[in-house]
Amino acid sequence: MHRYSSLTSFPDRLNRLAELAVDLWWSSHREARDVFRRLDYSLWRQTAHNPVLMLWKVSAERLAAAAIDPSFLALYDDALRQLDAARSAHDTWWAERFPNLGGRTVAYFSAEFAVHQSLPIYAGGLGVLAGDHCKEAGDLGVPLVGVGFMYPQGYFHQLVSADGWQQEVYERLNWEHTAIERALAPDGNRCVTAVPLGDRSVLVDVWRVRVGRAQLFLLDTDLEENAPWDRELSARLYGGDRETRVQQEIILGIGGVRALKALGLAPSVFHLNEGHAAFVVLQRIRDAIEAGASFDAALDQIRQTTVFTTHTPVPAGHDAFSFNTVEKHLAGCWGTLGAHRDRFLALGAHDNGSGPQFNMTALALRSAGAVNAVSELHGVVTRDMWGSMWPGLPADERPVTSITNGVHVPTWVAADMAELFAQHLGRDWVQHHDDPALWDGILAIPDEALWAVRQSLRQYLFAFVRERARDRWAVERVSTPRIVAGGTLLDPNALTIGFARRFAGYKRSELLFTDADRLSRILNSFERPVQIIFAGKAHPADDVGKHHLQRIYRRALDPHFGGRVAFVDDYDLHVAHFLVQGCDVWLNNPRKPLEASGTSGMKAAINGVPHLSIGDGWWAEGFTGSNGWHIDGGLTGDDYEAVDAADARALYALLEDQVVPAFYDRDAAGVPRRWLQLVRESIRTVAPRFSARRMVKEYVERMYAPAMDRQGAVPEPGPR
Ligand SMILES: *Cc1c(COP(=O)(O)O)cnc(C)c1O
Repeated sequence: MHRYSSLTSFPDRLNRLAELAVDLWWSSHREARDVFRRLDYSLWRQTAHNPVLMLWKVSAERLAAAAIDPSFLALYDDALRQLDAARSAHDTWWAERFPNLGGRTVAYFSAEFAVHQSLPIYAGGLGVLAGDHCKEAGDLGVPLVGVGFMYPQGYFHQLVSADGWQQEVYERLNWEHTAIERALAPDGNRCVTAVPLGDRSVLVDVWRVRVGRAQLFLLDTDLEENAPWDRELSARLYGGDRETRVQQEIILGIGGVRALKALGLAPSVFHLNEGHAAFVVLQRIRDAIEAGASFDAALDQIRQTTVFTTHTPVPAGHDAFSFNTVEKHLAGCWGTLGAHRDRFLALGAHDNGSGPQFNMTALALRSAGAVNAVSELHGVVTRDMWGSMWPGLPADERPVTSITNGVHVPTWVAADMAELFAQHLGRDWVQHHDDPALWDGILAIPDEALWAVRQSLRQYLFAFVRERARDRWAVERVSTPRIVAGGTLLDPNALTIGFARRFAGYKRSELLFTDADRLSRILNSFERPVQIIFAGKAHPADDVGKHHLQRIYRRALDPHFGGRVAFVDDYDLHVAHFLVQGCDVWLNNPRKPLEASGTSGMKAAINGVPHLSIGDGWWAEGFTGSNGWHIDGGLTGDDYEAVDAADARALYALLEDQVVPAFYDRDAAGVPRRWLQLVRESIRTVAPRFSARRMVKEYVERMYAPAMDRQGAVPEPGPR
């Protein structure tokens, strides 16, 4: 039970409310969300949907009233019944599909997890993918535990100054306001593990987050026993310098394996989500050698049970350190592996053009038995980019497969849209949502009903944007430009394009402004106005990204665009929900092929927001010809200026000739029939195929289960 439950006096009838709040399962279950919405709607909004914080703030009167309100109690009882069922179900997909693999566990390592906005331990797409993976694994009954960090200051909050410059604000998270609990060792004691770092030892504590059947174990070095600089090690996600980064990665990999052991867990499969966690293999090889294996046998055994997912087609995006740095910090980690130190270091050796370095992706590629990229196209790029790992092997034989990303549908679909699905696809639609045939039911939804939901979702977005601008103005006394840029001039009935993602060069956030006059004509059409909402953070050390952001911000203030360009600050899961559900079109125009997959377009599409995108990442396989638009300037190669100009022209032409006319082509009743066909196709084709359900099933069937099966055949290492 959560520690604060003894502090607040709950009416007996609601004695499991804290339990419901502290299991983030509630966040992807509408009935459970409704419990907290109904308990106190104003607090629900004020706390950005954080039930744990709500329970600290809610008044005793409100609780007492809820405890005797029959309709509230019906919701409450139903939510708890569902939670109990979710935790204890024996007829899950996993149990039925793999009855012989009971008792196994998968450990999923990731530097970030995006489970809910109240737990700010993620920066962007990688974290969202990890969070969605865990939630879906839980739903399917896959025995998976996540391993990551409980960064006390998390990722930064973004403030944008009146002249458009990003400022990073780090807030120390009050852990009592978050759905975390201390993880306990089997003996019931705290689970503190020592990790050697250089010539010292750092203590690592472990926290637990529950998401239904799935659990996350989050490491933390902020213990009184540690030196001040060691306490800071886990303070921020991607906040430190290279030295901090390598030490964080040692703690994640080596500390993570040790923590699992201390928790009494013995995973059968270790999944490394991106190279950050690759030091997992060091500790595991060492353990195998200590149990008597030779280096080769140990490496082979670890390969059989390690799965690696790479996410980055940008060479500079792969973590690499000098051998000196790595050796300095690993000094205390070797143990019996010390005799094979050179062989281990060779597993990470890679020269990406600036001399040989210790590369975390190279280490993972050489020590994982199964490797995947995150879209079909990304698979092609990865096999090409990492060819030197498999000398002599032609590209199509290099052992990197593709499992295209997906999104956790119950998390990302809007409540109003989910209700429409329930009416037309069946109340149990969530149970079958990766079955394409189910989605043919979408075709039967009447235009009027579908349009009414689309209109409501846009209204919710505008209410959210205005409320945020008003709060900022009232609390921070921000300047007028902030209010204008923040979207207060937007028109709730105009065609609204969303563009929200990290400000990184290859994402080309300014492509739309290539021809400012042409864009201005599109936006300011009197009869068919168009508007654009931008959001996104730049990495704190990325000044180039911050300049992109600043130029977008200045566009938002430029009267040439008539108040039809807005920038919403502090993009996070909360903002993302409103944007992907409430916009009309989702725009993505990266420089191909640098977008490994992308997932925000999937979130939008399942809400009936068609995707307008370059044929990169998932869209290269997701576009059917009738579920959105494919921006294709017809040029590729290194002449970026020419490629960008061609893509921009293609984008304008699509907007002018297809997107805008389809949206504004209304019948006598004011309904855009043609548009709604796109909306339907978008949902029908994307929801089943780009769901986390399809994705996790693929991981299980193609990566986890074979690794577990192989394990039976791996001989136990002999005695010393
Ligand atoms: C989905 C999501 C992302 C990933 O978006 P891309 O499509 O990969 O650019 C990033 N940040 C947040 C907050 C998200 O919800």
